[in-house]
Amino acid sequence: MINNLYKNFNRKERFKEIVDSVQFCNLCPRLCERRKVLSTANGNIESKVLFIAEAPGRLGADRTGIPLFGDRTGDNFETLLSNIGWQREQVFITNAILCNPKNENGNNGTPTKEEITNCSMYLSMVIALLNPEVVITLGMTALEAIKLLCIHDIKLRDDVAKLIPWNGINVFPLYHPAPRATIHRSLTKQRSDFMRLAKLVHPIDGLIKQKKLRRFKTQSLFPEENSLIQQVAQILLDLGGRMTYFKMTKLMYLIDFFALNKFGHTIVNDIYLRQVDGPWPPKLDKMLKKMEGYEIVRYFVHKIPMVAHGPSRRFKVQLDDKILETIVDVYKKYGDLGNSEIKTIVYRTEPMQFILQEEKKGKDMRNKPVLYKDKTIIQLKTSPPSRIQKSTEIE
Ligand code: SF4
Repeated sequence: MINNLYKNFNRKERFKEIVDSVQFCNLCPRLCERRKVLSTANGNIESKVLFIAEAPGRLGADRTGIPLFGDRTGDNFETLLSNIGWQREQVFITNAILCNPKNENGNNGTPTKEEITNCSMYLSMVIALLNPEVVITLGMTALEAIKLLCIHDIKLRDDVAKLIPWNGINVFPLYHPAPRATIHRSLTKQRSDFMRLAKLVHPIDGLIKQKKLRRFKTQSLFPEENSLIQQVAQILLDLGGRMTYFKMTKLMYLIDFFALNKFGHTIVNDIYLRQVDGPWPPKLDKMLKKMEGYEIVRYFVHKIPMVAHGPSRRFKVQLDDKILETIVDVYKKYGDLGNSEIKTIVYRTEPMQFILQEEKKGKDMRNKPVLYKDKTIIQLKTSPPSRIQKSTEIE
């Protein structure tokens, strides 16, 4: 079992933070005045099972504040759940977008691509917080929404009611229970899809049959050594779901900078070099390459390199609690910031301030070590170890 410390860090508190931040969201002009359907009424944040539907219905969640409840879609969903003996309180239910997309006629509209993209930020936070074993998508929109977080080629028609690895967890695609969607899949067929779900998944604990398979996979593919840098990258993704490559490098630097102040040594135990956009650990690229296709996937959003969970995790995080605490603390403080805000925080740290001052004097500080193992550039200036030169040659 991966250490629960960072998985369950103040989960209730973090959920409240997410809920509070959503209330002020005005990213989508036509939706921002609507009710934001995210609260404790969405279900159990300890559940390993997360349902994602399309959007709050006008007569359903927009009115009641409870996803998939209060309208005919909600009735269908509750019938399908009760057929397999599940209760909504056992699972967590959310939507691809959190506000009702009412159209100009006052009816339920279809969320636009832009609205789904805007709201994917909250979806990613919810997934990171719950850390589910199984995500059950209801309909095409939910599948499109998770594709923004981590690319997949799941086709609802071909893959309905199958467990499919995605982003280090599993997706179980189902059709939406709305009356209009029963044209594509009748309620009778949807009932058997739910039956299949109940055979594979427990509503709170997640996977039933797959657990054995996963354990086997973990053992057989377990890499002999997984470096500290890989472990820190893995934890950051566990906490954040996905992030820009830039953010990962800067969070890693902040973690090591704070660890150095706290423990007298860094966690990653390597070097950060001065690059155009701040400190960068050269080993990270090499380690991400090793993890690619397993623990992580890399892709681009608007030409910006992203890192997200991969389809299968091969190693366990084996860091002690104090170190995990430091990582979680840094993530809680800075994990929600955008790239430019993180860059500002990084540039305010002493080693970067020192570098900036030297650069003002006209010195070329490119590729100089900002941090190296248990020393900052300020300490290294007085006694630079010869090994540093060797490490800078890695790239
Ligand atoms: S749908 Fe999501 S992103 Fe758009 S306004 Fe509502 S909460 Fe914000």
